[in-house]
Formats: sequence, C-alpha cells, structure tokens
Amino acid sequence: MGRRNHGRERTRRTIDFLAGDGLLGSMKTYPVYLNGGFVTTDSGIPVVNPATAEPFARMSTVPRAAVAQAIGDGHEAFARWRQTTGQARGEYLQQIAAGLERRRDEVARLITMENGKPLAQSAAEVAMSVDHLHWFAEEARRTYGRTIPHQVAGKRHLVVKTPMGVAGAISPWNFPLVLAVRKVAPALAAGCTVVLKPASATPLSAVAFAECAHAAGLPKGVFQLVAGKAADIAQEFLDNPRCRKITFTGSTEVGRGLIAGAAAGVKPLSLELGGHSPVLVFDDADFERAIEGAMIAKFRNTGQSCIAANRIYVQRGIYDRFVAAFVGRVKSLKVGNGLEPGVEIGAVINQEGLEKALEHLRDARAKGAELRCGGGRWGNGPGWFLEPAVLTGVPDHALGMGEETFAPVAYVNPFETEAEAVQRANHTNYGLAAYVFTRDLSRAFRLMESLEAGMIGLNDAVPTATQAPFGGVKQSGWGRELGAEGIDAFLDTKHVSLAI
Ligand code: NAP
Repeated sequence: MGRRNHGRERTRRTIDFLAGDGLLGSMKTYPVYLNGGFVTTDSGIPVVNPATAEPFARMSTVPRAAVAQAIGDGHEAFARWRQTTGQARGEYLQQIAAGLERRRDEVARLITMENGKPLAQSAAEVAMSVDHLHWFAEEARRTYGRTIPHQVAGKRHLVVKTPMGVAGAISPWNFPLVLAVRKVAPALAAGCTVVLKPASATPLSAVAFAECAHAAGLPKGVFQLVAGKAADIAQEFLDNPRCRKITFTGSTEVGRGLIAGAAAGVKPLSLELGGHSPVLVFDDADFERAIEGAMIAKFRNTGQSCIAANRIYVQRGIYDRFVAAFVGRVKSLKVGNGLEPGVEIGAVINQEGLEKALEHLRDARAKGAELRCGGGRWGNGPGWFLEPAVLTGVPDHALGMGEETFAPVAYVNPFETEAEAVQRANHTNYGLAAYVFTRDLSRAFRLMESLEAGMIGLNDAVPTATQAPFGGVKQSGWGRELGAEGIDAFLDTKHVSLAI
C-alpha cells in the first residue's frame, strides 16, 4: 500500500509542477456527463500518456455532492426507464454500438494515449465493446421469469425479474472502455440507470462512450459519468440508499474495502477482482500452440490483464525446449509507443507500475531465480517502458509468485506430475483464470474440474467470449459479467404467489 501511494505521490508532484508552469492550461479538458449534459469543471485531473510520461489532457472532476445529485437524477430517470420495453432499451444500445463503431479509430487512439497499450489491441478493445453492446441489446428482451408448479391447490407461483434501480459502476484502467461497457450495457439493458466512475488514469474513453450514449438519444439521467476522488464517490454509492447496486472491477484490496463498506447498507456488490493465473504445459501438449498461448496469456495488454499468466509451469520432459523457444519469442517482441505500427509491448501504466515490476524482478533474482532475458528499463525517454523479461527457477516465496506483477514479466518453473501441477496452480488466494495445454482428453477433463478458477482456457489463451460468463472464484471476486449471468446481476428476483 505504501509503495502504491509513493508512486502516486511522485506522479502528482510532476503534475503540480507542470500545472504551476501553466503547461496544463492549454490542454483539452474533458467533461463529466450529468443528467443529459456535458459539464466541464475547474477542478480537473491530468491524464498522462504512459509512453511519454507527460500529461496531454485534463478530466473534469466533481465533489461527492454532485455524485449524490447524479444518483438522485438517476433515480428519477429510473422511474421512466424501467417502463420502457426491453426491445426499446436494446435499440438504444444498438445506437450506442453504431456510434462507437463509427468512431472506432479515434477511440482506439484515445485508449492508447491514456493507457499505453498497442493500437491494434485498443482497436480490439473497441470491437469487443461493440460486441458486448450488441449482446446486451439482445439480452434486454430475454430477462425471462418462470412459472413454478404449485404446492397447494388454489395457488399459483411466478418468478418475475425486475430492474434493481440506480447502479454505481467503478472501472479500472487496464481495459478502460470494455470493462466499463461490461457493466453499463447489461445494467441499461436490464432497465437500471447507471452512474459510472472510470479510473482516474484513463477516463477519456469513458467520455467518448458518454458522447455515443448522448448521440444515441438516451434519456437524461439514464447514464451518467462522474470523476473525482475514488473513495468519496464510492462512499456515496455505499451510503446513498437510492444507489441499489455497486458493480466494481479492480484490485482485491479495494474490493475488500467495498465489502466492508457495504455491510451497513447491505448493498449488493458485483466484484471482478485481481487474479494470479497459472499456465500448465504438459509434455503431451501441442508445443507450438503452447508457446503461442503462453505468449498471449502473459504479454497481451503489456502483461496488465487480470487474467494474465502470472506463473507458467512446464512439465519436465519439455521444460528446457520450452524455455529456449519462449525466451526466443520474448526477445523478438517489439517494444515502443503503442501508436507506432507493429508495437507489441507498450508502456506500463505509470511510474508506480514500473517500480513494482522492477522490485519483483530484483526480489526474484535475490531469492535465486535466473533472469533469461529483459528486465531493464527500455528506451532513453521518460516513458514507463520495461524490457519484457523471463525468469526461471523462481521460488514460491518470491513476491511475483504471490502478488500480481502486472507487467511483461514471466515466471517459468518445471513440474513433474499432474498432481503436483494442480497443487501448485491452486496454491493462491486468487481464482480468476487458469490455462492448460495438453492433448490428453482425460487429463483435460480432470483439470477442468480440479483447477480453482472461474475461467479455464484449455489449449486456449483467451478464455473470454461475450456470451460466456466472466469472473473469478476465491478472492478474485463475486458474481459474473457477460453471458446470461451479466444481465442477471442487475435484476431482482421476485416470487409472486397468487391465490386463485
Ligand atoms: P484499483 O486501484 O482497485 O482501481 C480500480 C478502480 O477503483 C478505479 O476506478 C479506482 O479509482 C477505484 N478506486 C480506488 N480506490 C478506491 C476506493 N477506496 N474505493 C472505491 N474505488 C476505488 O485497481 P486498478 O489498479 O485500477 O486495476 C488493476 C486491478 O484490477 C488488478 O488487480 C486487476 O487484476 C484487477 N482487474 C480485475 C478484472 C476482473 O475482471 N476480475 C479485470 C481487470 C482488472 P482511481 O483510479 O480514481 O484511483
């Protein structure tokens, strides 16, 4: 916690210095979106490009009182929004999707500027957001209840689904657009209204989303965007009885705080939290597929994905061959400013993220791990780049074997038996994703059942699909996004008992 704050302090000092020089004055200020109107405020936070470590825009912020007002306006809008048909709500979502699609290149660029990820990956994020909007537009018409055979004569029983009310949504910086859409789209489809608070580091793609919602003619108060001090906004979500649901994606540490804060008001929470995903590569795996899979699972999004491979375990028979091939591939990764063509590894989000990765590298080496490639700062500029690194022989007590490194750093270790692989894979408090590379069908089924994770990639490095539930077990969270489950998170289930 201390380290995290230290990093933020440092960034803040840089910003204050620039602000003092008036350098921020000339930058575009992005607005919040309140009750159908875009509002630019005097109190802004700078948005910094990780590739240059320089601010390039400001985001307007609002105090807690404005969040209370937004919840009140959202509550008022809810009375009308819930009366619209699922089909009508779906049509609005389709319009938002069409708007995002039209602005695909511009929004992808914005994501790369605020987050640092390679442009092609930002474009894929926009495409996935559009796909989520299409799915939930259709799901809006499928919030089925059911009828139940009666227990006593003269009664009938119905199960009815109704929207919960105003939802407070908090999203992280690592997939700034798609993880916000994963909350907003199902909530709107269900008939809820939403107040979204994006991560302070990456609020601009959320503004673009708000612009698309506005252009789609979404009624005022149905979707609102706020920014400001996270703890204050979250406290208003927690304390305000008109906010009926909180949906959060971010660290387990903050999620734990929300669970504690939700106790007083018994506020329903959906939590998508941290992960520490293992990759298990067996002797019988399709070797090339396993190498490619491990590369994607580890290095996609510059290693800053919640389902990133944090620990790679390779069976002894192919271990040396795997390490040689994997290191060869990692050395060939193109690092650089995400806006440049062909870049595969962008900058990590901030100084704090870079320092954490460097500390994990130092710690692992001090505890006996061998550095096979990379691991230093990349480039001569001030951007927060790290040379993609591979460490082998990493002891279980190394920091990175327990905490998310959230950077392009791979830890590769050997194992002997399937039982050992499962035991080591499950030896974590997290349970978001797990990956298995094997051609043995029986083994695949055994592992599908024994691995403690909400998502299992069997010979598949990207176990995410719009129509399938996404989420974790253990300390990786509560509930699921996407799939049919995604919309259910915003619906109350009512039993109606009818005497006839
Ligand atoms: P974070 O520090 O927990 O921040 C996430 C969001 O919570 C941001 O909007 C942040 O606002 C806000 N926040 C910060 N302090 C808060 C508080 N006291 N109360 C309420 N909200 C607060 O996480 P992050 O560093 O942005 O994201 C990385 C983490 O998210 C990793 O652990 C990753 O594994 C996890 N993640 C999980 C999933 C999943 O689906 N399970 C997906 C992606 C990421 P500010 O930005 O203003 O501080």
